[in-house]
Amino acid sequence: MLKDLINLCESKGAQLIAVSKTKPISSIQAIYAQGQRHFGENRVQEMVEKEAALPKDIRWHLIGHLQKNKVKYIAPFVHLIHSVDSRELLSVINKEAAKNDRKISILLQLRIAQEDTKYGLEPNDAERLIEAIQNGDYPNINLQGLMGMASYTEDKIQIADEFQKVKNFKIAWEQKHQIAITEISMGMSGDYLIALNHGSTMIRVGSLIFGNR
Ligand SMILES: *Cc1c(COP(=O)(O)O)cnc(C)c1O
Repeated sequence: MLKDLINLCESKGAQLIAVSKTKPISSIQAIYAQGQRHFGENRVQEMVEKEAALPKDIRWHLIGHLQKNKVKYIAPFVHLIHSVDSRELLSVINKEAAKNDRKISILLQLRIAQEDTKYGLEPNDAERLIEAIQNGDYPNINLQGLMGMASYTEDKIQIADEFQKVKNFKIAWEQKHQIAITEISMGMSGDYLIALNHGSTMIRVGSLIFGNR
């Protein structure tokens, strides 16, 4: 499965993030041994412990909701934070990045699902953050793109519509704000094929690689 996913991503010019949350170090080592280097976690504590125990060339992606008071623990090493969903969080990441004398790469998480999800920015708020970043308000932030999660549904057309929204915002905002929005993180075990067909450049796949949680 892993090799198939890697080949598929290669052919689409996308990045595979192996979502290792809840899985033990030994499972990550097995996937690492097959060449995978990008791993995703949704809990800070777990990511910190795994980072300490595993090879240093792993690139760690924080994919779940991030509390402001926990940013400091991952700021020294995190590769990409996918789940920036407020101005306050962006501000804290910028501050912690500065303390570590680095830039931290981030994605703005958009609320695209029909269902009532708690997290994600409304499009207008995301646009205000893009303007603030461009304005130089967050010098230690490297804005790489957008992230979205589709509704938990069997309706493939709805999922495709939701992913397409992210793609459309990318195109519109690149034009309007004259910026490069290079990455779009969308697609999980159940919907990564749809995501890749709607412009995803990063799929976050857990259970298909590691088995059910
Ligand atoms: C758990 C998780 C995934 C991976 O989910 P799978 O269905 O196991 O592939 C992707 N993205 C986020 C934000 C997650 O929390």
